[in-house]
Amino acid sequence: MYKCPHCGKKGISVWGKLTIGMYNPAICKECGNEVRVPYTSALILSIFTVGFITVLSFVDSIILKIVISVVMASLSLFLYLKYVPLIPEYK
Ligand SMILES: [Zn+2]
Repeated sequence: MYKCPHCGKKGISVWGKLTIGMYNPAICKECGNEVRVPYTSALILSIFTVGFITVLSFVDSIILKIVISVVMASLSLFLYLKYVPLIPEYK
């Protein structure tokens, strides 16, 4: 669970954080307020994805492609969950 920036309680689930989108904030289970991630993190994530696709286009082996995909997906997931901060969304 993640700390809610509104109430300070652990009201945001891992799944809640994962499914935060540009127009889809997570809802705190404790206070019911909306929480999202900074827009810059979405930008960094898209740059990361483009770089990743570029790398894959240079790889010939299908096995290697799968291995790189799994590693990169786990890495970006880990970095997102660990380092991207949750910020309060005010209506
Ligand atoms: Zn809250």
